Amino acid sequence: MKVILAQPRGFCAGVVRAIEIVELALRKYGAPVYVRHEIVHNRHVVERLKSKGARFVEELSEVPEGSVTIFSAHGVARKVQVEAEARNLPVLDATCPLVSKVHNQAKRYIAQGRTLILIGHAGHPEVEGTLGQIDGNVILVQNESDVAALDLPAETPIAYVTQTTLSVDDTRAIIAALQRRFNDVSGPSTSDICYATQNRQSAVRELAKLVDVILVVGAKNSSNSNRLREIGEEAGVPSYLIADGSTLEEHWVRGAKTVGLTAGASAPEILVDDVISSLRRLGDVEVTTLSGVEENVTFRLPVQLSDLPAPNRAERVN
Ligand code: SF4
Repeated sequence: MKVILAQPRGFCAGVVRAIEIVELALRKYGAPVYVRHEIVHNRHVVERLKSKGARFVEELSEVPEGSVTIFSAHGVARKVQVEAEARNLPVLDATCPLVSKVHNQAKRYIAQGRTLILIGHAGHPEVEGTLGQIDGNVILVQNESDVAALDLPAETPIAYVTQTTLSVDDTRAIIAALQRRFNDVSGPSTSDICYATQNRQSAVRELAKLVDVILVVGAKNSSNSNRLREIGEEAGVPSYLIADGSTLEEHWVRGAKTVGLTAGASAPEILVDDVISSLRRLGDVEVTTLSGVEENVTFRLPVQLSDLPAPNRAERVN
C-alpha cells in the first residue's frame, strides 16, 4: 500500500501558539492553570496538557479566585472578558490572532453603520465568540438559503466576515448570493482569510487526484477537520475522519492501493504517525509526501510570557 501525506497538514500557527501558552503558563505560574473550553479541538492535546496540570472548564464560574485563566484559540465573547475583569482573574488570551483580526474587522464594519453578516456554523465556539464581540446588528448566515431569507431591504449597507475555518472556496457562493441580494456589500480582502485553512483544503484537493481513499486525522468536533473530509468526498474519494491509529477500520482501506493521509489544524503529527503504524499492521506501507506549500507563519506569545524561552516549534509533534 502507498500512503501519500498531504502537505501542509496538521498544526497551524494559531494552534501551536495556544498550546505553547498553556505549557509556558504551567512553567511560569505552576499547576493548576485553568483553560476555558478545549484549548484546541483535539482530545490528545487536551489530555496531554491535563496530565501536566491544566484544568479545562466551560465557564469562568468554575475557576477559583485568583487562578491563572487561559482563553482558548477560538476566542471568547466580550461578556466573558468582562466577567474575567470583574473577578480580577489573571488572563492569558490564546485567541488566534487571525480570529482577533476578524473581531476587529467586524467592529470596524459596525462602526461604519453597516449590518454585519457573519458566515459560519451556528454553535461553534469561534462563532459564539465573534457574535459576542459585536455590539450592533449582526446576523449569522450558514448557507445561501439563509441569505435569501434575510428580511432586509436591498439598499441596506452590508458587510460580511467569515469563520476562519471556512476557506475562500467555502464562502464563495454565499458571498455571491449577498452581492446579488444587496446593493452595497463590503468584505475583507481575500488576503485576510486564514492561510492554514486555505492551504490544508487545497492540499486535500491535490491529494484526492492521486488516491483511492482519504483519512483525515482530527476530532469529531473539529470544524476544519470535518471540512477536509467533506472536500475529499466532494472530489469523489471515500474519506474518513480518524481520531488516531486505534480507530482505523480495516474496511476503509481494504483494496486501496493508495491511501491519502492528512490532518486538521488541531491534530498533532504524532497522531499521523500513529495512523501510519496502524496501516503497517495491515501490510507493507510506502510513505511519500505530496509537494506543497511550506508554511513558516508564527505568532507572537502574550507579553506576560515573553520573559520565557519559547519551546522549539520545529519539534512540536504533540
Ligand atoms: Fe488561527 Fe487559522 Fe489556525 Fe484557526 S486555523 S487557529 S484561524 S491559524
